[in-house]
Amino acid sequence: MRAFDYLRADTVSAACAEAAVPEAKLLAGGTTLLDLMKLNVERPSRVVDITRLPGLDGIDVSGSVIRIGALAKMSKVADHSAVKDAAPVLSESLWRAASAQLRNMASIGGNLMQRTRCMYFRDPGAYPNCNKRNPGSGCAAMNGVNRNHAVFGTSDACIAIYPGDFAVALVAFDARVIVRGVSERSVPVDEFFLLPGQTPQRETSLSTGEMIIGIEVPRSAALRRSHYLKVRDRASYEFAAASAAVGLEMEADGKTIRDVRIAVGGVATKPWRLRAVEALLKGKVLNEATLRSAAAASVDGAKSSGHNGFKIELAPKVVARALMAVGGVA
Ligand SMILES: Cc1cc2nc3c(=O)[nH]c(=O)nc-3n(C[C@H](O)[C@H](O)[C@H](O)COP(=O)(O)OP(=O)(O)OC[C@H]3O[C@@H](n4cnc5c(N)ncnc54)[C@H](O)[C@@H]3O)c2cc1C
Ligand code: SF4
Repeated sequence: MRAFDYLRADTVSAACAEAAVPEAKLLAGGTTLLDLMKLNVERPSRVVDITRLPGLDGIDVSGSVIRIGALAKMSKVADHSAVKDAAPVLSESLWRAASAQLRNMASIGGNLMQRTRCMYFRDPGAYPNCNKRNPGSGCAAMNGVNRNHAVFGTSDACIAIYPGDFAVALVAFDARVIVRGVSERSVPVDEFFLLPGQTPQRETSLSTGEMIIGIEVPRSAALRRSHYLKVRDRASYEFAAASAAVGLEMEADGKTIRDVRIAVGGVATKPWRLRAVEALLKGKVLNEATLRSAAAASVDGAKSSGHNGFKIELAPKVVARALMAVGGVA
């Protein structure tokens, strides 16, 4: 591990100023950062500890927008009764992530910023060629073992998956990330995460010296009737093979779909909203055949790299099952 300076920030502005140097990293729960430092993947020159910043761990469900501070623990948000009531998908996506011990340590800001689990990315000793870790060096996964890699949003530089669950729920419901640097800005989650293109090392729209201070999720009828379904190789403590965050709002007749939200995880290089599938369902009568037929379009444009072809078969089934669960069908 490379030697680094350690600073503890007392205010958000101090944290942003202290982190405004190349190769600085913020430290929240440390459950991703410390792992990657030990693996020599992250080699910060400076670590800025933000764990004691006041006022960033709040959870407010009282207004038309749910506000969650960047330092709120995953477990606190998952178990918050008003969150469970107004936004089941947020609670469920967190409950199904990592382990109890990790959720008690890990923060919401750190969760959004977690990095890919691509095994080549995480093993610099054995695999020097990784464009995300070492730009221009190639991609060991393209012709390697790529069972856990993306079928959406890939480029010829990188096919790594965005592994988080919570951000999938956020993108389905038009959440925004609140960012502070020299000034404050609010970024739609969909724009916060970047496609790899030719610069896979740039994963988010955060600039040096900026940090996440919270997220905002507009409350809606679809959010209230929402669900997160995660399919994985084992029942707990595992990342998604494919997941779906869905929500439904029905017309007054109780049969016709007024609003529907769908995003998928475990299959794309960033949290992946399925707007075309949503459009197929709006105004349709809710039944199993309609849901299954629309879900089949979930993988339009998906591209297999070899071992991950099974995700193209799996994802529509996960989307259909999630919609049927939230719609009370079958
Ligand atoms: C074994 C294991 C299994 C896991 N399984 C899952 C899973 O199934 N699903 C899932 O979603 N996640 C999973 N995770 C990931 C876990 O959720 C993350 O490690 C955790 O959420 C990171 O939060 P943290 O506070 O510990 O972040 P840290 O490790 O402190 O930071 C992570 C990154 O975010 C940056 N950062 C932290 N806070 C901020 C901020 N406010 N603004 C800007 N940058 C910031 C840091 O600089 C660092 O680069 C797993 C992790 C492990 C180790
Ligand atoms: S898929 Fe991306 S992260 Fe994995 S080896 Fe290739 S460039 Fe690196």
